[in-house]
Amino acid sequence: MLQITNHMPTEDLRALDAAHHLHPFTHGAELKEKGVRIITRARGVYLTDSDGNEILDAMSGLWCVNIGYGRTELAEVAARQMRELPYYNTFFQTTHVPVIALAARLAEIAPEGMDHAFFASSGSEANDTNIRLVRHYWAAMGKPDKQVIVSRKNAYHGSTMGGASLGGMQPMHAQGGLPIPGIVHIDQPYWWGEGGDMDPAEFGLARARQLEQTIEELGEDKVAAFIAEPIQGAGGVIIPPETYWPEIQRICDEHEILLIADEVICGFGRTGEWFGSQAMNIRPDIMTIAKGVTSGYQPVGGSIVRDTVAEVLNAHGEFFHGYTYSGHPVAAAVALENLRIIEEEEVLRHVREVAAPHLARAWARLGEHPMVGDVQSFGMLAGVALTPDKERRAAFASPKGTVGQRCRERCFANGVVMRHVGDRMIVCPPLVITPEEIDTMVDRAWRAIDETFEQLR
Ligand code: PLP
Repeated sequence: MLQITNHMPTEDLRALDAAHHLHPFTHGAELKEKGVRIITRARGVYLTDSDGNEILDAMSGLWCVNIGYGRTELAEVAARQMRELPYYNTFFQTTHVPVIALAARLAEIAPEGMDHAFFASSGSEANDTNIRLVRHYWAAMGKPDKQVIVSRKNAYHGSTMGGASLGGMQPMHAQGGLPIPGIVHIDQPYWWGEGGDMDPAEFGLARARQLEQTIEELGEDKVAAFIAEPIQGAGGVIIPPETYWPEIQRICDEHEILLIADEVICGFGRTGEWFGSQAMNIRPDIMTIAKGVTSGYQPVGGSIVRDTVAEVLNAHGEFFHGYTYSGHPVAAAVALENLRIIEEEEVLRHVREVAAPHLARAWARLGEHPMVGDVQSFGMLAGVALTPDKERRAAFASPKGTVGQRCRERCFANGVVMRHVGDRMIVCPPLVITPEEIDTMVDRAWRAIDETFEQLR
């Protein structure tokens, strides 16, 4: 057997990766041309690559490492649980202590009346569960025609057939015949990019009312649910105008539509509350969770379900649905330890009182750059639009994403991982980041943006 270790030369590791590894969300030709970056270790907010470079991870991996890297308590809990009960399932009237404890803990931190959890291993799987769950719920309620789920263009809800269909990413839909039937997409509440002459408040209402128009067009008896993130993450950190969510809530209530809040990014402290729904003051019927529930140390996803919905499901026979790893004991034990750390180290308070206000101030400095518009942050999520003309909120003449991609490359060269979505640059750092580290992150982001600007001149 080949012995492959961190100590091998980067070029050898690259060659093996190129020979055997098909990467998710990666352009094959670019991978070949530029080579793959190999991350070998991480601690706190810093990654180390195979050439020994230290990079500040302003994306928390993929929006997930909320408590930062290198927390050995989680490794110890995992090892202990593996020794005691490495696996057992939760099908067919069985359970185990870690999953009981995790479900009970989630009920404590979730909004009132949301005391039930269905587990999966990822956000995509959890959203697939949600499609089946809401349709099954309405059938059990004697309304089997309530099947359609309304989502939004440019939303991201995962990469399975169901998750990608709920998502509103056109390039994903173009591959493999998506979306699946019964999913309808309305426009997103992205004022800077799409608000035209409206003011943000007006625009927020207009975008929310598209939900009502869609329900009226399709018929209330056909629409099962509306799904959205409290703040869109992968769509480009899009913080809706303040008028948006109250109007969505009113519409869901008045038309008997279940509200699914996808909390995969917003959950577990990202907004300074346990859930983004609390920060946005909304009352979901289902919350999708993943990522921050374990800070990415183990794969856990799930649906936190309102009691009134769970009671109907429980009263109507068997829900023919589940995953081998639903409520995996090792993953559940790690999730619990992560939630303990968030609680005991007062991470939510750190976000609310220290990190988020500091991020907002430091991030605002980017707005002084001539190529930066729409400087936004909420909790520990922040984004800016790169623009050739901030007054007109203009887009670049080059194909969308060209400038963003360049900037992302300059980020790596400057020792910071930021992501680009089209020509928006976004960050989502570990919640435990210090004010000094935030300053370093923003300084590096500024340099990356400025070098991109100079390249374009
Ligand atoms: N929902 C949202 C809001 C996400 O951001 C993601 C992933 O980025 C998902 C769902 C899918 O989660 P996963 O990648 O764990 O399947």
